[in-house]
Amino acid sequence: MILPPSLSIREGHLCVGGEDCNGLTERFGTPLYVTDGDRVLANYYAYSTALSSRYTQVRVLYAAKANGNLAILRMLGKAGAGADVFSSGELQLALSAGMLPEDLLFNGNSKNAADLTLAVQKGVKVSVDSLDELALLDSVAEAEGKTAEIAFRVNPAIEVPTHPKIATGLRTSKFGIPHEQILSAYQAALSCEHIQPVGLHCHIGSQILDMEPFVQEAEVIVDLAGKLVDLGVPLQFIDLGGGLGIPYRHATDPAPTPEDYAARVLPVFLQGIKEAGIRPAFWVEPGRYLVADSTVLLTRVNSVKEAYCRFVNVDAGFNLLVRPAMYDAYHEVVVANRADVPPLNMCTIAGPICESGDILARDRYLPVVRAGDLVAILDTGAYGFAMSSQYNARPRCAEVLIAGKTVSAMRRAETVEDLIAPMEDCTR
Ligand SMILES: *Cc1c(COP(=O)(O)O)cnc(C)c1O
Repeated sequence: MILPPSLSIREGHLCVGGEDCNGLTERFGTPLYVTDGDRVLANYYAYSTALSSRYTQVRVLYAAKANGNLAILRMLGKAGAGADVFSSGELQLALSAGMLPEDLLFNGNSKNAADLTLAVQKGVKVSVDSLDELALLDSVAEAEGKTAEIAFRVNPAIEVPTHPKIATGLRTSKFGIPHEQILSAYQAALSCEHIQPVGLHCHIGSQILDMEPFVQEAEVIVDLAGKLVDLGVPLQFIDLGGGLGIPYRHATDPAPTPEDYAARVLPVFLQGIKEAGIRPAFWVEPGRYLVADSTVLLTRVNSVKEAYCRFVNVDAGFNLLVRPAMYDAYHEVVVANRADVPPLNMCTIAGPICESGDILARDRYLPVVRAGDLVAILDTGAYGFAMSSQYNARPRCAEVLIAGKTVSAMRRAETVEDLIAPMEDCTR
């Protein structure tokens, strides 16, 4: 197997950022998420360099939902990233990580008055998703005595080759304003007293490995930008969203880089803004690409069972990694304490949750696996812990960050008390 850059093998043991996974689980227990912080930063710099070498006004907004750990937000903020936030909670996380309000964009198709009030009070720009939201924001801004700076989220109606549940720019998607209605939306915004339209926003989906949809998106958006100039909208930024995928199947998936993205998309953007006679900033919102390959989920083998197939029963399930159950996602698997042994048997990695769908990996050739072994599920830094739950009354596990030579918990494991506490006051 081709290992991603943050992984290596030493004396048969899988290492993350140079740290032996077996040692880490002795110290922190299992299940355990382990993140190589240097890899997150390298991914961020790959993005910002590829873009800023082609255009001077670039901003990379990390999509905080991919991995909302405060330590990761802090690290990315320090490196210069802003954030795409999708809830009041994410907005407050990003601010408490030290990110600046002007470096955030508040997205979401269903925000309420409290969400919009928070954005206005903090001075965070809003990506408005409907005319109802525009009216609500205008009244919220009036009540606060402020002007809200906005973009509209455009639905460009683009077919994207990814899992339908993570394609967001389809004509049928719940996100954004249909592109044929967008000019009248901006006209409405211009006539609102407490709204200033300053941007144009789009995001077509996630885990996209083909650059063509991004090129199409850029074409649709710069075309719209030209029309907005004619309307008199002072466009300060164009935000093309996130969506660059990673090669989860290490041997066979294409592995496009931010350089590939920038080389295809920036020329379309630059040509478009030249024709429109404007120089707005170029914003992107990568989530998955920055964090996915930085992290492994380490899980202990409780038992091995020969049944319909060889089930390897581990202590992490879709409570901690829902992607396989939810999106049929594929994650590579390594037996972390026998990482240099060639594969022998076909195994299915099953979680401990009371659902037949709780399978982390199906039909994989692995070295002989026994109870007590340690299994690593790779590329779990994006939409892994972030989508975890306490289903089956399982406290969430700890997360560990490796930054240079420093190893530290960036989130403690939950306990049974954490499960009971929210109910205690109510039941007396
Ligand atoms: C989820 C999301 C992103 C990030 O998507 P990735 O596939 O993780 O890069 C960016 N922008 C918006 C609006 C999103 O909802």
